[in-house]
Amino acid sequence: MNRKPVHIAMYSGGASSAFVAYHMVKQYGRENCILLFTDTLWEDEDNYRFMEDTAEYIGVPLTYVVDGRTPEDIFFETKYLGNARLARCSVELKVRQTLMFLEKLRTEQNLEPILYFGIGPHETHRAYNLRDFYADMPLEPVECRFPLIETFTEEPDVRRIITEEWGIRLPRMYDLGFTHANCGGRCVRGGFAHYAQLYKTWPERYALQEEMEEKFRNQQKKNVSILKRGSHPYTLKQLREHFETDPDYLEKLLSMNINMDKEDLQGAPCFICDIEKD
Ligand code: SF4
Repeated sequence: MNRKPVHIAMYSGGASSAFVAYHMVKQYGRENCILLFTDTLWEDEDNYRFMEDTAEYIGVPLTYVVDGRTPEDIFFETKYLGNARLARCSVELKVRQTLMFLEKLRTEQNLEPILYFGIGPHETHRAYNLRDFYADMPLEPVECRFPLIETFTEEPDVRRIITEEWGIRLPRMYDLGFTHANCGGRCVRGGFAHYAQLYKTWPERYALQEEMEEKFRNQQKKNVSILKRGSHPYTLKQLREHFETDPDYLEKLLSMNINMDKEDLQGAPCFICDIEKD
């Protein structure tokens, strides 16, 4: 086989993956590295700006892999509305696209991909999940590396380094208080607190998501929703109406720490999609 290794930073739009990419390129050289981003077409525009700025700083152009469908397209095509428990958008738009890209590198260029993730020591469970996932590939396993866990003895302050030393502004969603910044705040795995944040920050984007959910329910004639209260559907329309009649409820959700009560808040971004916050 004797494939030549190619080092691939899994760009997520977050600071840690950009930082890891920088060190990967420094170690292995630009010609042996790829910065890979799988685009759902729902990202916040400032995430694209950040990724382009950091890729330019690193000196390797960003490789976009684009399926061409949005998460909404996937929900209607599969007749299944993504939610905290199952999000086929992630499988179709992120996982499948990545695997196809890696397979092409092997078959068409005789390259052996090694993946780099910006996951820190406080999220080792995500690293284990990813390693297991890529070890279990149907054709051949793919090696995964987690430099922030495996290489650095102390976790670097990546946000400070990028803003102060690289002179690049972090994606605006960091400051806006989102728990994760994928899909422009519209992630179907985001949970109650996440949707409260979306409603407060970008009501027009919340309205788009509400509209999509209502359209899906009407078209498919199914009582389904992105969020659930207890084990029952709870629509974004109901949630908005709750916010309108009880502003304290909105504030309560906004003040909650999503890490404190994940089950209740349903904040469970998928391990493939969610970007690091630190
Ligand atoms: S971030 Fe959320 S909505 Fe976007 S593709 Fe991933 S699971 Fe789906």
